[in-house]
Amino acid sequence: KRTVLIIGAGGVAQVVAHKCAQNNDILGDLHIASRTVAKCEAIIDSVRAKGAMKIAGDFGVHTLDAMDVAAVAALIGQTGAQIVINVGSPFVNMTVLEACIQTGAACIDTAIHEDPTKVCETPPWYGNYEWKRREACKAAGVTAILGAGFDPGVVNAFARYAVDACMDTVESIDIVDINAGSHGRYFSTNFDPEINFREFTGTVYAWQGGEWTENRMFEVMREDDLPVVGRHKSYLSGHDEVHSLAARYPHADVRFWMGFSDHYINVFTVLQNLGLLSEQPVVTAEGLEVVPLKLVKAVLPDPSSLAPDYTGKTCIGDFVRGVKDGKPVEVFVYNTSDHAQAFAEVGSQGISYTAGVPPVAAAMLIASGVWDVGHMANVEDLDPKPFLALLNRIGLPTRIKDADGDRALVL
Ligand code: NDP
Repeated sequence: KRTVLIIGAGGVAQVVAHKCAQNNDILGDLHIASRTVAKCEAIIDSVRAKGAMKIAGDFGVHTLDAMDVAAVAALIGQTGAQIVINVGSPFVNMTVLEACIQTGAACIDTAIHEDPTKVCETPPWYGNYEWKRREACKAAGVTAILGAGFDPGVVNAFARYAVDACMDTVESIDIVDINAGSHGRYFSTNFDPEINFREFTGTVYAWQGGEWTENRMFEVMREDDLPVVGRHKSYLSGHDEVHSLAARYPHADVRFWMGFSDHYINVFTVLQNLGLLSEQPVVTAEGLEVVPLKLVKAVLPDPSSLAPDYTGKTCIGDFVRGVKDGKPVEVFVYNTSDHAQAFAEVGSQGISYTAGVPPVAAAMLIASGVWDVGHMANVEDLDPKPFLALLNRIGLPTRIKDADGDRALVL
């Protein structure tokens, strides 16, 4: 009997649970495990309230400390899960992967980290070193698909698709992520502040001219007139997929650009300059030890609470330039999503939606054998066509814009 285990019960897990339920004819029974079991129960309640299950099936909820390898492995054994979708905090990525290796379950993760001794990335302070388990996955024949969210994730598949289908040689890959939505709060991140801020507090690395270049955040800006969302500024930013795509396409420039409003930049800059985004503990005059970043997280809105009021759309895509038959070619492969539509369908905002649908597509491709590769893989290592074709069907349609116009990508 097919069974999927979801780890984590936050904003992304909510989307994953709904999408698994909508496709339970392929994925089977559904179990959710997290630190706070009440959040798992609330997710199952919302799945039931929407009548999301495609066919009748069982649910299970479990309290789990996913930092405990033995506990995760025991739960995989108890539920009989063949596929684990990890959408817990990134702190648990290594332990969940280890439990999958021990039990033989396939592992899907929305993060990806390359070896920082080979690439210029500051090692993440939550200590994720997935690549060190590459050999162990291979030896155990365990499928582990890393970076299977939207960015990283779908944008990696966009890049691979554009390079394979539209050009002979690739010269540059520019990933642009614009959230043109509005949540109506003074300030909020769209997912876990600890993780979100980490992306923007360090040196910005880009792969340009065959080497790593370094910039400060908000130092380099571009402006694009994008489909659906219109004209937007975005800033050269560090992101996981720059490292994996640069390793695959070393002759191309690889950059990631994130859109920010002037207001966001102001607030972020103040927080950072005051030292409030630091993960290093400080001691107050009263002798209290406080991690500033944890405090900031505690006072900011819970990203999933933004969902009911969120309006507007996202546009995330890859500008890929290269040469085809001796002539220059540029394509923009992209998706747009609508916050309110995501809320109506699964009770989440658009950022969680774009992050949560792709790992379910990956799970469906593992279940059907197409992506059940028996080793550790990044999304761009795998054939992007079945992935994008499935995403077209389950809520994240891909479009392509080039000299011939702007159209749905039919696969
Ligand atoms: P949330 O912070 O909303 O949810 C994280 C969940 O993990 C919470 O339910 C939390 O439990 C749980 N958790 C934390 N520690 C443990 C533990 N030790 N044991 C069990 N459960 C634990 O995050 P999001 O839903 O926004 O994001 C989930 C993941 O998706 C993150 O890893 C994030 O980096 C990734 N992501 C990827 C994107 C992409 O496009 N690739 C985009 C957005 C997110 P509790 O409620 O008790 O705190």
